[in-house]
Amino acid sequence: MARRREWTRETLAAGVRAGDTRALARAITLVENSDPLAYEVVRDLYPETGRAYTIGVTGPPGVGKSTLIGALVRHVREQDMSVGVISVDPSSPFTHGALLGDRIRLADHFLDPGVFIRSMGTRGHLGGLAESSLQTMLVLDAAGKDVIFLETVGAGQSEVEVIGVADTVLLVLMPGSGDSVQALKAGIMEIPDVIAVNKSDHPAAKTMLNEVRSILALDHERAWKPPIVLTEAMRSENVDQVWAEVERHRSFLEEHGGLEERRRRNLAGEVFAVASARAKTHLEHAVRDDPELRRLLDEVQRRELDPLTAVREIMEKVFKVEDGNSPDTR
Ligand code: GDP
Repeated sequence: MARRREWTRETLAAGVRAGDTRALARAITLVENSDPLAYEVVRDLYPETGRAYTIGVTGPPGVGKSTLIGALVRHVREQDMSVGVISVDPSSPFTHGALLGDRIRLADHFLDPGVFIRSMGTRGHLGGLAESSLQTMLVLDAAGKDVIFLETVGAGQSEVEVIGVADTVLLVLMPGSGDSVQALKAGIMEIPDVIAVNKSDHPAAKTMLNEVRSILALDHERAWKPPIVLTEAMRSENVDQVWAEVERHRSFLEEHGGLEERRRRNLAGEVFAVASARAKTHLEHAVRDDPELRRLLDEVQRRELDPLTAVREIMEKVFKVEDGNSPDTR
């Protein structure tokens, strides 16, 4: 039987630095458990991060994200780059390092020591998925992974926060992804950097391609015009072209100093997202545990207190701050 190794802050950080798979797995589990040791290890490793290139992959369920990532990983490995994959499913409360059913498509790569794959779902993080995915990404970065794929489903707030750290955002669609196309059109979904219209073997794929193309054509101001690639991920068709577009986007960013700027903005956004999530949790706990605060809510319900006065009192009591919405500070 393998002896259980007790990791310390030093041995864990050293193990991650050396790219040791067991140290990596352990560090990420600790991250998922919001363990204080993970916090210390990431703090030690942080100055060495920033070398990996991160690609956020998003899109509705079933479009072929995992299949495409599997094919991209193969392509990237052929160029001798090491890879990390973080697969995030906000709807799953208990993924915890296990494989989601449809992530099995990445299974080809499990025996390759140059590829590290981890799935995560929502757990009891104070800072939510934004926190665990950011910390996991930093651990993989410190471990020397050249490329990190961050996969997430859909386009809700938590997904936006998860891929908010990405250097390049790849949106995957397929014939029938009408909702996403509408979301792009209405400006609800941010314009990605590269779009793959997958399942090109489907008869309606070209129609989808043209639809997306016409929406993007309306946008004249953007310096970077997001390329659209028709793919058949199942047969690795055009996957090299997707990768070429990702690299072209990277060069575009690097040429104009845009990568620095984007990372600066991304990291600021992540810090803000994690802080907001923590503040929300703190607020919920405070109201739950404090009969006086709960009474305020009862008073609002009985129409003895108006909602904004309740907000003001809660803000003062929980955060010791004046409500920023009161007339004198507006
Ligand atoms: P995800 O939920 O976006 O990660 O999608 P998956 O990668 O799990 O793929 C969903 C389904 O679509 C699976 O049954 C895949 O085998 C299938 N699929 C993926 N790529 C293609 C493709 O290019 N053509 C066709 N016909 N099916 C595909």
